[in-house]
Amino acid sequence: MKPFHYERSSDISSACAVAARPASKFVAGGTNLIDLMKLEIETPAQIVDINALPLDGIEETTEQGLRIGALVTNSALAADMNVRRKYPLLSQAILAGASGQLRNKATTGGNLLQRTRCPYFYDTTKPCNKRQPGSGCAALEGLNRMNAVLGVSDNCIAAHPSDMAAADGVTRTIPIDGLYRAPGDTPNIETVLQPGELIKSVVLPPPPLGRQIYRKVRDRASYAFALVSVAAIVAHDKNHVQNARVAFGGISYKPWRSAEAESTLSGASLTRLSYDAAGTAALKNARGYGHNNFKIPLARRTLRAALAEVTGTI
Ligand code: SF4
Repeated sequence: MKPFHYERSSDISSACAVAARPASKFVAGGTNLIDLMKLEIETPAQIVDINALPLDGIEETTEQGLRIGALVTNSALAADMNVRRKYPLLSQAILAGASGQLRNKATTGGNLLQRTRCPYFYDTTKPCNKRQPGSGCAALEGLNRMNAVLGVSDNCIAAHPSDMAAADGVTRTIPIDGLYRAPGDTPNIETVLQPGELIKSVVLPPPPLGRQIYRKVRDRASYAFALVSVAAIVAHDKNHVQNARVAFGGISYKPWRSAEAESTLSGASLTRLSYDAAGTAALKNARGYGHNNFKIPLARRTLRAALAEVTGTI
């Protein structure tokens, strides 16, 4: 590991001022950053420890939503009674990620900003545009079964590993869909955050009407990243979907909200045909790169299974 300057901060503005200097990083749980520093993939000149900042609370907003401090650990968030009661999907998603030990350390802000688990990003003997801009992308012709099929570019097909899907700030508010940048020609730049900008909290809007489900498909039953995951909230009457929200994980550089699946499901009958039509619409622009081709039918089937379960039409 390269030498670095370490600074602990107990107020937000001084932490941001230090982190705005060149080659600076915030550290909280450190569950991803420290590994990357050991491999010398991340080589910050200084790291700012933000664990003492007052960002570890969960409170209800006046709109009946929740404001989650960026330092709330994954374990605390998944166990919070308000989260379990109003956002069971979020609690399920967090508990499906990592291990108990990691969830005890990993934080809400860090979860959103963790780096990809593309194996070539971690292998410093291989080209990787995200790690070393302009060097190429070993995953295009390599072992890419964990990589993305939506929102990709020929410069990077990395999938985002987070199971969490909503973000907010105080000086500015960023919808989750606007936080992550498409890989395009600069896959090394992953978010719209500027140097020194800190995620202070994540604001969840009031939960929409409907039943919630999070279904994750992975190589083993625990401690594995998603091959495909589906988050869905569905309101329905006896025969038809009234309203649906659908997002996929594991298949893009960001949590992939599918407007196509949602519009296909609106007013659709509670049948497998409808669920398959939603999956077809959601994946119509997907592109496989060989080893990860299987993700496209898998995403359709995972959506169908999640919708069948959440509507009780198995
Ligand atoms: Fe690097 Fe992205 Fe290619 Fe993986 S997919 S090797 S992270 S450029």
